[in-house]
Order: sequence, then structure tokens, then C-alpha cells
Amino acid sequence: MLTYKHKSATVFEFNPDANESQIVHAKNGRIPMHQFNHNWFTSRGQRVACKINAGFFNTSDLKNTHIGLVCTDGGFEEGWPTSAYECWLDKSNIMHVENIRDHPDNRGSIRGRFKWAITLGYSLVLNGKKDIRGQTGFPTGKTWRTLWGQKADKTIVLVIADNIDANESADLMLELGCVRAISADGGGSSQMEIDGQVIRETTRPLGTMLLVFAKPGEKVAKVQKKSSNEIVKDFIPVGRKNRPGLAMTPRFITIHDTGNTGTGADAKAHATYLNHPNTGVSWHYTTDSNQIIQHLPTNENGWHAGDGYSGTGNRQSIGIEKCINRDGDFNATVQITQWLVANLMKEHNIPIENVVQHNRWSGKNCPQTLRSQQNGWTNFIKGVIEKYNELFSTSKPDLYRVRVAGKQIGAYREQQSIVNEVIKALNSNEKLIEIEKV
Ligand SMILES: [Zn+2]
Repeated sequence: MLTYKHKSATVFEFNPDANESQIVHAKNGRIPMHQFNHNWFTSRGQRVACKINAGFFNTSDLKNTHIGLVCTDGGFEEGWPTSAYECWLDKSNIMHVENIRDHPDNRGSIRGRFKWAITLGYSLVLNGKKDIRGQTGFPTGKTWRTLWGQKADKTIVLVIADNIDANESADLMLELGCVRAISADGGGSSQMEIDGQVIRETTRPLGTMLLVFAKPGEKVAKVQKKSSNEIVKDFIPVGRKNRPGLAMTPRFITIHDTGNTGTGADAKAHATYLNHPNTGVSWHYTTDSNQIIQHLPTNENGWHAGDGYSGTGNRQSIGIEKCINRDGDFNATVQITQWLVANLMKEHNIPIENVVQHNRWSGKNCPQTLRSQQNGWTNFIKGVIEKYNELFSTSKPDLYRVRVAGKQIGAYREQQSIVNEVIKALNSNEKLIEIEKV
């Protein structure tokens, strides 16, 4: 049931057949993330859809010597492979994770075949399996980590994640569907920007970044924020008026929002409020964009539904308050809440139709934010169902192998990926296309 052990991860995915990517190397000293750009693409009207930090650099050298190999724009730029692992994108957009130095032909082995290549850190996933190699000399403990990987359908997955070690990084990339993955420079260097929005920027200037480009208006990425499932328990003290302690068997889950857009009005602030001796109201969980705090055990009731002492809302439902603080990320909060609801449904055998708005019990305009968005509530419930299926459904869609002119192109579960391959083959006049259920 536990999916993500770390605190939070931001995941950016793109199709390298549709969107170009390139390594940018700050040659004359390291520069802050926001200064990285690639004129060839941007002067042709493309925008930078994603930036993510890349390789290690020599911090004692003001000239910014990259540690290892950097190859950009299809050419060799600087350095030689080291004992660390290289990551390179070939001209068919396959991202390789390997140690080029140990290849008999050294860097000549990729000559003429790459769009970009760079020495990063250690491997995480090779051939679809967890396989951590080349980690000697690199930090592998819990910190911020930057992870790059590729799925079998070629989708490239770029991640920054907080508070994970090498082992958890490999688990995360496997869980995201990567068949190859590598760990790049992490810690204070882990930095990312998606469509101009800073996901994380530190004061540390960087030597190299990977940039992903998109045409104007083109929507590229499936961006997900994965967040903590480590529910922090901070129970209201027994005997307080907002901890009545009446036994409850939860049959419903009631969704609220806090109505407080103030800066800092996050889950922690609400826990402090509930723990105050004068507070008369209570609920079971508060979610914000980073965490979940539990205030009451789920076999006791809280006073959150406004339907009176014996009301079904107060006496038979688990109350969840979503934070809407302006310094939080509402979409991330929604996703964390959906994760929590899915888990509570499973744990207490609560059907989706019993996941309800506070409005149902008292007529209050709550959860106000979802209620005011077009299809806000419908989409919320849809997301809960998806999350539930993702976590607990045992059946996976069938896998199909696609062969073109006798050569295997890939194996896919998504129909669209199969269709894309067929169209591509037809466009290049290949007529022998075989699709076989694996
Ligand atoms: Zn409410």
C-alpha cells in the first residue's frame, strides 16, 4: 500500500520523438538556473518546457570544469568518460545509460550517434531492473536527488525528489515505468523549472543542464507531483472539547477546504489551531502540498460536518480539510488528498459514492475551491478513482509487441503508443507491421 517513501517528487515526462532536448553547458563559469538557454531553439520560437540540472563539476575550479564527458548539439565538447555512468541520447531518441569508458572503443563508441551525451553519476535501473552501479565516490544517502530515465515506449522521465537515497531513487524510477535510469548531481544542485515555473532553485550556480523544448502553445508534459504518504500523527489531546471520543465506524469521507488562503496556513498551522484548548471544532486529516497530518484516530468522531451532535456527517464520516494557502500548490494538495482518500476507501471499505462534500451535510459552500471550479468536484472524484485503481487494481492492460519489417520497435500497454508506431511506420513506407499480444 505504501507507494512513495520520500517526502515529495516532481515528475516531468516528454516524448523525445516530439520534443527536442539538449544539454547546455555554461562554459565560462557556472551560472544560475534561470540563465540557461539555448538560442538555436528559442530564436526559432520554441520555448523551454523543462530545465533540469545535470552533471557534477569541479567546485575548486572557477572555470567550471565538468567532471567527465559533455557532448552537446551532436558534437564532442569537453572531457572524457570517467568511472561514473554516462547518459546519452542517440539519434533515434533512445536514452542510453552506460559506462562508456569501459567500452573497448571508449568515447569513439558513440561518435556520430548521439544528440547529446554527459557523464552523470550512477545507474539506477538497467534493462528494466534495479541495478545500481558506478556509485563509488558519489553520495548515496537521503537528500535531494535528480533522476533521469526512459520508459519502454521512449518517454523520457525527469525527476527531482526530496529526501531519498539511491535505493529509493531506483524504486521510484521503476515505479514510474523506467527501463533505464540514472542519478545525476543531487543535493543543492538538484534544480528544476517547468514552463518557466521554478520547481526548485537553490543559490548554487550550475555547470550543465538538460533543456527540453516545445513549440508555442504545445502542451508537452504530464507533470505529476508525488508526495508523502508518511502521515504525521499529531492527535488532539484526549479530554479536549474538540476530541469527544465518541466511537465511530466510518461510512463516509467528507471533503472540506480550509477557506484560508493566507500565507503559511498549511497543515502544520491547522494542527496548531486544533491543538489549542479553546478550539471547538475538529476533523481527522489536514492535507497541504507537502504533507498529511492526522489529528484524530478514524474510530473516533470529530466536529466538522455542521450537522449536529447525532448527524451522519459528524458521527459516521472521516473529515479531511484541504489547505488552500497561497504559498502552497493547490494541484499538489489535491493529488495528495486523492491519494489519502483512495487509501481510506480501501482501509475502511468505503465506496466512491460515499466520498462527499461538506455541503451534503449542512449546505455550507464547502469545499469552496472545488465547488467554484468548473467540473472541480467531478474531476476530483475522477482523480480519486484513478489513484485507487493505480494503487489497488491488480490487472494491468495487456502488453503488445510491435514489429516493423521484422524488427521489434517496442512493447506497449497504451493504445496511443501503438498507433503512433504504426503511423510512423506507414509514413516511412514500411508495410510489414506486426502487432502481437505478449
Ligand atoms: Zn467544510
